[in-house]
Amino acid sequence: MGRGCVKKDASLFRKLGASALIMTGKNSARQNGSLEDVQAALSGQGIAFSLFDQVEPNPSIPCCREAARAAQIAQADFIVGIGGGSVLDASKAAAALVKNDLLDGDVFGNPLTGGALPVAAIPTTAGTGSEVTQYAILTNDEAQTKTSLSNEALFPALAFLDGNYTHSLPRAITVNTALDALSHAVEGYVANKSDPWSRAVALSSLRIFSHALPALAEDKIEAQLRDSLLLASNMAGVVIAHTSTTIVHAMGYSLTYFKNIDHGRANGLILGPYLSLIAKHKPELAQEILSALHIESTHEFSALMDRLLGPKESLSPEEIQAFSDRAIKAKHVGNTPCELSAEDIATLYQQGFGSGSIPL
Ligand code: NAP
Ligand code: ZN
Repeated sequence: MGRGCVKKDASLFRKLGASALIMTGKNSARQNGSLEDVQAALSGQGIAFSLFDQVEPNPSIPCCREAARAAQIAQADFIVGIGGGSVLDASKAAAALVKNDLLDGDVFGNPLTGGALPVAAIPTTAGTGSEVTQYAILTNDEAQTKTSLSNEALFPALAFLDGNYTHSLPRAITVNTALDALSHAVEGYVANKSDPWSRAVALSSLRIFSHALPALAEDKIEAQLRDSLLLASNMAGVVIAHTSTTIVHAMGYSLTYFKNIDHGRANGLILGPYLSLIAKHKPELAQEILSALHIESTHEFSALMDRLLGPKESLSPEEIQAFSDRAIKAKHVGNTPCELSAEDIATLYQQGFGSGSIPL
């Protein structure tokens, strides 16, 4: 981690092999200097590389297959993913597809007995923490949602965190991705799968957010804030690698799949009412989160979320019903620290998309 770390620690790439496939999205890696740094680092180490620069946001299985084919053609020993969570997840999925001959229907939930190529992950958003998780979240058209591939073989072998690469993020993506990381820290803190260690890491991430959220709300996005957000996001990624996520993420997937709302924003829309729900059932957990954030009440937390989110999209009663019916079937329900019915989930959607803040 740190300015210039890709070039400074370039020799680490050598441990992964002699030939690499670099994966990026269509534009940003060229614009923020990360692609140039990686190419120089690999060249300096005598590592051959080719480039796949066609990863789309919310990547699909066909996109990952195309990248896997490019890796096979290049006889790549490893993959370097440079970008937001979409590129990092696509890199992990492509790395798995190189080593496992899978039909589309067999990708999700597959034990990946063939393992995966090693991946070096270079995040250029501060949000998903994908550089330290075993998840690759892909669009699942058959189930009309986003589905997580979860396998230890998908943990990146290396991650480089250089806050400079996030400077070019526009405000909206900066806020949305920060809300994703915040959601990971909050959900990970309360998750049934949490333990004292994961809660300690989550609190460290939340304490960074205690400064970062007001700065974001006031539009004071400076270099130091970028570094802080990248660290907070990375820590929150470590948290969900241990705890997984809860109902907020399950609810967010329908918002992304059917309404095209960015992943982080989708979570952010639900987070205010969710913390109020937690405060009703597990007041001590909600209070610990609020204390770490230096926020007085769930009311104040929701008001801050509203400021960050700005004008909200709307959901029809039919959409709320349909999305709630989907979310109640998700495995995330069992990791949420209170009993939930489809009606409770519908209420969270209603409150999240309502205007103004949500009282306790
Ligand atoms: P993203 O979908 O990766 O990227 C969104 C947009 O940001 C893209 O248009 C991208 O452009 C642009 N971008 C990226 N870095 C930039 C930079 N430095 N400057 C300017 N623009 C930049 O967004 P994300 O929120 O990071 O990732 C969301 C995905 O991650 C979702 O699919 C979500 O489900 C997944 N996710 C995964 C995990 C995990 O543990 N694996 C956890 C949470 C979320 P280019 O396309 O040109 O690069
Ligand atoms: Zn997320």
